[in-house]
Amino acid sequence: MKVQTGAGNSATRRSGRIVRAGFIAVTVLIAGISLFAVLALHQARTALDRIVYNEQLAMELQFRMMQAARERSVEIYHVATSEDPFVRDEHILRFGELGGRFGSARGELLMLDLDPQSRALLQEQGRQATISMALLEEVIVLAMDERRDDAVHLLVNKAIPAQEAMMATINTLLERQIAESHRKAEALQQLHSLSVLLLAVAGIAALLLAVAIARYVRLGMDGLVGELSGAAHDLQETNRRLEYQRLATDQHNIVSIADPRGDIVYANDKFCEISQYSRGELIGRNHRLLKSGVHPDDLYKDMWSTIARGRIWKGELCNRRKDGGFYWVSTTIVPFLDDGGRPYQYVSIRTDITDIKEAQQVLQRGRNELERLVQERTSELAEREDLLRSITSFAHDAVVMIDPGGKVTFWNPAAEKIFGYAQTEMLGRKLHEVLMPDRGLEEFRGGFAAFSQSGGGRFMGKTVELTARRKDGEEIFVEISLSAVKARGGWHAVGIARDITARKQAERQLEFLATTDPLTGASNRRRFDGVLHVEIARSRRYGVPLSLIIFDIDYFKRVNDSLGHPVGDRVLIQLVELVSANIRETDMFARLGGEEFAVLAPNCDANCARQFAEKLRRVVEAHAFPDVDRLTCSFGVAEYRDAEDEHALIKRADEALYCAKGEGRNRVGVAGSMG
Ligand code: GH3
Ligand code: MG
Ligand code: MG
Repeated sequence: MKVQTGAGNSATRRSGRIVRAGFIAVTVLIAGISLFAVLALHQARTALDRIVYNEQLAMELQFRMMQAARERSVEIYHVATSEDPFVRDEHILRFGELGGRFGSARGELLMLDLDPQSRALLQEQGRQATISMALLEEVIVLAMDERRDDAVHLLVNKAIPAQEAMMATINTLLERQIAESHRKAEALQQLHSLSVLLLAVAGIAALLLAVAIARYVRLGMDGLVGELSGAAHDLQETNRRLEYQRLATDQHNIVSIADPRGDIVYANDKFCEISQYSRGELIGRNHRLLKSGVHPDDLYKDMWSTIARGRIWKGELCNRRKDGGFYWVSTTIVPFLDDGGRPYQYVSIRTDITDIKEAQQVLQRGRNELERLVQERTSELAEREDLLRSITSFAHDAVVMIDPGGKVTFWNPAAEKIFGYAQTEMLGRKLHEVLMPDRGLEEFRGGFAAFSQSGGGRFMGKTVELTARRKDGEEIFVEISLSAVKARGGWHAVGIARDITARKQAERQLEFLATTDPLTGASNRRRFDGVLHVEIARSRRYGVPLSLIIFDIDYFKRVNDSLGHPVGDRVLIQLVELVSANIRETDMFARLGGEEFAVLAPNCDANCARQFAEKLRRVVEAHAFPDVDRLTCSFGVAEYRDAEDEHALIKRADEALYCAKGEGRNRVGVAGSMG
């Protein structure tokens, strides 16, 4: 299974970028907002501290001024009203001290950061204080002069009101200061509220941005998570399959792992089971432990050189069990290579093929036995074949064998002699295509196809006569005995053939002699009777007409008598030649005896035969015979009637001829017409 790493990597990279960007943006935003908030708060706090400090100090100083002014009013009153000079001096001293306290508070107040209006009020107060001070000092002078009533009068009517006016100014300043404080505090409060509002707005914006980024990141993460979970699922599936494969491999195969020296580092249960060694006995031992000694050293050398080069080796090995017995394994050794391309371990997977090997050995033994038998039989057969060959070599008859395809597989010397073909020319060739005359070829092919299927046929097991074509083109008659032989699942034919051409020719000669008139060469009565018999049968069977014409030379005795018998013979010969030249090939012409002849005309009714006879009569009449002036014949015609035999037909034709003779000769008498 393959994990889609390419797409996964790009998605991972993309999501990583999104997360990083989101994190940086949120961090920068939060840091900016925090900085802004801290600065704003710090500013507000500093301003507030400064205002509070300023206001408190200013109010305290004003309060101190008020306090000192009031106490001075009390002290000056005691100065104005005291009768005791000591007491009066004490009050004057006290009045002076309070004046100093008032002055220092005012000095400190002037040092503060005051707005122009406050500073203007202070100047007014200073001017009023100067007036008031002058009046008070005048009160003190009057008191010192013991003019207490004047002093009290001045005090009550002028100094105290002046003092009150100054205190009213201080009070105004104080109120103004308080009002100013409130105003500044309100302004600060507004600034603070604005800061808080801005902070809230920025916070909400940061929150929204963070939510948007989180959403976007989540979408990216969802895709990534989907891909990762898909990949993880695939990985799990692969692991599961690999685990199944490992289980299957372990269950059915012998698995071992060896280090580069061939020392076993892992052996599965199947390996322990088949080798009969425990795992403890195998681990750490060299694979040579299992060597059976069956294989040549070259096999192991080849194996080691193959796997040491990092190639997979496959082969069949015979190993030795702990009990000394052998087992066979089909082995595949896979080298695992390190980064440098050197094998660091060899994993061997083997299948137990002991049963197969044993079966193979049994089979091999059987095959050896079979081969021995075959050899024995082959030599027996060779002996027999030699015997057969020597028999057939000396035989006068041709011995020929053909296979199911019709090809010649055996051809003895007599066959060479009879047919003119050498054995080397005939072996492997189709017999019929070489020897069979063209006219019989198609029929033979059909018959042979049936034979090669069934081994049977029209000629099988019989002796038949056939014509064959020799190498020189001459057609010969052979008498052949055919038999079928089944071999290797097909039908073969064996033929023993003899050349019967000479005998056939003698027979034909005899037949010719027996059926031919020796004087004229025409067919004789014997042949005529035979043909008539056949033709009557044919006419009966097929219902075709058949007519017989018999004719006799008129006054032939005179020829003999006047010109001599030999001339008579010549005339007979010439007449046969003349008639033969004027009949059809299908007509049968025969000399019935003496100077009486017959023509048998198949497919010819009485009318046709009458015309035919008439034509012959005219031909004879018109012919110029060298020895005689004039020669005529009389004709008797009869058409075959149903159910009559050949004698009846001849008799009727004879009677018609007799009639023709009786009516003057040189004419045609027709049997039917005369009733
Ligand atoms: P008709 O017209 O009545 O037939 O008169 P004809 O003389 O032909 O009489 P017929 O047929 O009876 O005589 C046949 C004669 O034919 C008798 C015989 O001498 C003669 N003949 C028969 N066979 C031969 C033969 O082989 N050679 C010769 N030269 N003559 C033969
Ligand atoms: Mg005659
Ligand atoms: Mg006659």
